Amino acid sequence: MEPVIVIGAGLAGSEAAWQLAQRGIPVELREMKPQKMTPAHHSADFGELVCSNSLRSDQLENAVGLLKEELRRCSSLIMACADAHRVEAGGALAVDRHAFSAAITEKIRSHPNITVVEGEVTEIPAEGNVILASGPLTSEPLSQTIARLFPESKYLNFFDAAAPLVTFESVDMDSAWFASRYDRGTPDYINCPLTQEEYLAFWQALTTAEEAPVHGFEDAGVFEGCMPVEVMARRGQDTLCYGPLKPVGLPDPKTGKEPFAVVQLRKDNAQGSIYNIVGFQTHLRWPEQKRVFSMIPALKNAEYVRYGVMHRNTFLDSPRLLDRYYRVRGEERLMFAGQITGVEGYVESTASGCLAAMELARRLEGRPAIDFPRETAIGALALYISDPSVINFQPMNINFGLIPQLGYRVKGKRNKNAAISQRALEALGQLDLT
Ligand SMILES: Cc1cc2nc3c(=O)[nH]c(=O)nc-3n(C[C@H](O)[C@H](O)[C@H](O)COP(=O)(O)OP(=O)(O)OC[C@H]3O[C@@H](n4cnc5c(N)ncnc54)[C@H](O)[C@@H]3O)c2cc1C
Repeated sequence: MEPVIVIGAGLAGSEAAWQLAQRGIPVELREMKPQKMTPAHHSADFGELVCSNSLRSDQLENAVGLLKEELRRCSSLIMACADAHRVEAGGALAVDRHAFSAAITEKIRSHPNITVVEGEVTEIPAEGNVILASGPLTSEPLSQTIARLFPESKYLNFFDAAAPLVTFESVDMDSAWFASRYDRGTPDYINCPLTQEEYLAFWQALTTAEEAPVHGFEDAGVFEGCMPVEVMARRGQDTLCYGPLKPVGLPDPKTGKEPFAVVQLRKDNAQGSIYNIVGFQTHLRWPEQKRVFSMIPALKNAEYVRYGVMHRNTFLDSPRLLDRYYRVRGEERLMFAGQITGVEGYVESTASGCLAAMELARRLEGRPAIDFPRETAIGALALYISDPSVINFQPMNINFGLIPQLGYRVKGKRNKNAAISQRALEALGQLDLT
């Protein structure tokens, strides 16, 4: 059998290659790293997390928690590696990013049905089955090739940002403490308080600090889910106190009272030697990040392992181009997966790679496709992405709004969400996932 060509060994591409290979289908996985790196990738390993090390909530009352559970039931490689390399983060699934990617790389490279071919892809193979999973930062030549494929359509884009990482030993723990909000779960976050006076000085500095030049950048082009902290700050003096600096449920053990504002740091590796500043995606110039963030008392001597960066993030107008299996309408041998399809987030990118590969495997085996129903998170996401009635298409995180309501009353939002998840898992249980 001719191998399926998978382009890009990120979260979607690695998952797709794995799903195909596990079904006995030969795969040629083409990845340009380490010969060529995107502006946000730093390591040679596959499935690299470009920013946060959190795969978000792991609870079934949350839609992304449901999506994870569905992926586990589909024998997802990405979920298996995430579970094996988790670091404590309250109700969220955060991972040791290096161990996580190393595990994915090892599984992929040692799989007898996968051949890894290193080097940048600039043209789409003219024949055979191809899954394009080259991500939101697809290299320029391939990006142009994809644009030529859809002359009627145009790429859409927004700006995305990554938060800085600091070393644990440089955090002043005399001015900070460990706790999770409302004491839920284990006390995994480092909480850095600010008084009202400190906050105001910080806010002033943040809103007037010098940004790195990003051609064509405008506040309007920023996706809400990953808005730079300085852009959010400019919306109003108190906005951050209702967002990433929210103090509720975080009383300072020294005073027993909630501070005026709290910056949280989340563990970024298993050893706990590196932390990321939660919600501090930024595109300030690097010296400005150091100057402004050092106004947070616990970070006054912070040592930066990596500064925040910002990039253009590109995706297709999928509702007009793709079907519910992420296939190009009218040219089904070509499929897209991952963030380039407009799904937003690590887990969502994985889910699209998983579904695309499962469909392709079935097709090659001459079996009917698995139609994930809208009641499941995997199905709801794919149906949204391919819904031609969606006009102003924007990147989409999985959320319960994409899944049909229950049709009966359940008291309390958490209970209702749990019931929707239960129904999804029952629906998934009815499917033959082989
Ligand atoms: C700056 C930034 C920060 C983000 N932060 C978060 C976050 O904190 N949380 C979150 O959930 N999501 C985040 N996202 C969104 C998204 O979840 C990630 O981008 C995710 O990595 C997408 O997975 P993917 O598999 O589609 O692409 P990627 O993981 O980017 O994988 C694509 C792969 O294709 C390779 N490639 C690209 N072009 C070529 C080519 N021409 N030839 C061969 N290989 C190629 C790349 O090297 C890469 O390995 C962020 C995105 C960006 C851009």
